[in-house]
Amino acid sequence: MKKMKRMCRVVAALLLAVCLVGAEMAPVLAVTQAEIDKLKNEAKDLGNQKKELEAKLKELADDKSKALEKKKLLDQQIANTSAQIGNVEAQIADYASLITQTEEELADAERREEAQYELFCQRVRAMEESGEVSYWSVLFGASSFTDMLTRLNDVNEVMEADQKVIDDLKILQAEITEKKEQLEDSKAEREAAKADLVSKKSELDKQRKQAISLVNEINDNEQENKETLAALDAEEDRILAEALRLSKKLAEEQAAAGKSQQSNPGGYIWPVNSRYVTSTVGGRTSPGGIGSTNHKGTDIGRVGYTSPIYAAKSGTVIVSQYSSSYGNYVVISHGSGNTTLYGHMSSRKVQAGQYVNQGDVIGITGSTGHSTGPHLHFEITENGMRINPLNHGAPPCKGYLTGYTLSGSA
Ligand SMILES: [Zn+2]
Repeated sequence: MKKMKRMCRVVAALLLAVCLVGAEMAPVLAVTQAEIDKLKNEAKDLGNQKKELEAKLKELADDKSKALEKKKLLDQQIANTSAQIGNVEAQIADYASLITQTEEELADAERREEAQYELFCQRVRAMEESGEVSYWSVLFGASSFTDMLTRLNDVNEVMEADQKVIDDLKILQAEITEKKEQLEDSKAEREAAKADLVSKKSELDKQRKQAISLVNEINDNEQENKETLAALDAEEDRILAEALRLSKKLAEEQAAAGKSQQSNPGGYIWPVNSRYVTSTVGGRTSPGGIGSTNHKGTDIGRVGYTSPIYAAKSGTVIVSQYSSSYGNYVVISHGSGNTTLYGHMSSRKVQAGQYVNQGDVIGITGSTGHSTGPHLHFEITENGMRINPLNHGAPPCKGYLTGYTLSGSA
């Protein structure tokens, strides 16, 4: 019996040592509440931006002459909602990590508490057996474990070493309670964020439909919107001229800097993964009878709102901005007078002046500007002239892109 008791004490001391080491080795948090708070602040800014956009849209009301201005605001609203969705998704991911971490910490604290409780019991048994103090009366009189600890506190005879065992146990219990509360909070926050995500996604859907119906309205009422359609057409011509000017300027600058203009030989690759062409150069009847009777580019459909857009050829980005016609668009210069243009992007991923390699992601597909649904408007100009990028077989065709499917109409 004596030997057994000694064993108990040795084990108890060891357990206590393990507990203390365990407490110091608490895992470092990979995700902190501070990071989530940062996301929440960003969400607040986006919320304010959203209110501003709503107010501006309300001002325009149904003024037909302001249709393009309205489309621009709708595009901004869609970008804002998309950013909010990205923010909420990041919050949900952070909560998931935080929950996993807290669960691990809780399990660890519970393991340590169990060991500490065992140590406590051993101390009680040891004291009881050595007849130093009668703990049993205290233990049996307690209504709960916490009550028991309180009662033990009052026992003067409790030795310092025992008090340390009890204190450690209390600390662990407090830690467990705190972790459990944290866990509940994080889970509730995650659920709220998930509900928020659902409502934001349906809001985005509504805004996209609204933007498309606005453009359809412009296209369908050609007479009423004569000026608007003509303005769009003129804008596309201006954009081409400006791209040519910038492309030549860049070539001159490079020559002046002693850099020989890269001849950049070789062809172009598909700017998106889809090969589904909905409209070809010159091949579309104008939606309004005015303006784009000669469609200036190649429309590639079945791209949705989230597909990456690739640089069809390496070069320097000379334009990255928003316009009423092309929405978010990017122009890359591949040498003097040779450019590619990518329109209607949801978002642009490059800035003017940036060098990109063929295949680099320069943006994400969308339906910004004069567009009635997500697609990529793609143009190639060579020596300042728009060419048909599609290889349609008949000579002297030198189109680059092959392996496509043509849809019946735009
Ligand atoms: Zn187009």
